[in-house]
Amino acid sequence: MALLHVENLRKSFGGLMAVKDLSFHVEPGEILGLIGPNGAGKSTVFNLIMGTITPDQGRILFKGRDITHWPTYKIVDAGVARVFQIARYFPRKTVYENVEISAIPNEIFVRSADPRAKTVESCVRTGLCTNEHCPGDDRCLCRSELPGMLPQGGLRRLELARAIGTDPELLLLDEPFAGLSHAEVDEISHLIASLRDEGQTIVLVDHNMRGVMRLVDRIVVLCFGEKIAEGTPEEVARNPQVQEAYLAGGGF
Ligand code: ADP
Ligand code: MG
Repeated sequence: MALLHVENLRKSFGGLMAVKDLSFHVEPGEILGLIGPNGAGKSTVFNLIMGTITPDQGRILFKGRDITHWPTYKIVDAGVARVFQIARYFPRKTVYENVEISAIPNEIFVRSADPRAKTVESCVRTGLCTNEHCPGDDRCLCRSELPGMLPQGGLRRLELARAIGTDPELLLLDEPFAGLSHAEVDEISHLIASLRDEGQTIVLVDHNMRGVMRLVDRIVVLCFGEKIAEGTPEEVARNPQVQEAYLAGGGF
């Protein structure tokens, strides 16, 4: 059974149809690439899956359950996490505290029984903290550093650490390479691949086809809210409609 089923999803903003009758599925353990030029509707699809906006039509099934009209916190609790295109963080909290937020129990989430262990695990797992003594070491840099001091790649790791801190079964990554240097792209690619190797299911959004080719198992191509192609990276790259849209979109 697919982990996620998106069926006939439609969303308009005024006269603009941002997502048009879109269907696709995500298999457990795979990385699905969702690509298309800017404005294609990729982030809107993530907003719909996370329940931050509601569709005009269609449904979303996660592990066979219809989550279409669930509130976001319930969708997160069910096992879906998302990393935003633009890093969001609490500027006055330390890097460690920013990650801890996803692990501490609160009135909505029952979270990890041991938030401290979970936070340290997420920090180490994402390479956010490279200090091997970090577990248990309050002098570690992540305990005093503010997110504003991190390079772009560090902010991406912070977002990833917070997302995996919720123990997601499905991880939605919105343009994780945006604004990164070549070296940082390689590092984050490695991290994404290693999460996949541990069984993490991922949907990876990018506007750049080349950026995702080496990471993904399958690709869905969106253009003006519509799916114009689906298949392996090789199949999609050969697709004439994709080639046309790709060139029209300035090589998106
Ligand atoms: P992508 O992530 O592929 O670049 P988006 O999903 O962000 O594209 O946007 C798809 C289209 O929907 C764009 O034309 C965008 O301007 C529009 N759009 C997205 N969110 C909203 C919104 N909340 N209100 C109005 N228009 C929106
Ligand atoms: Mg977007």
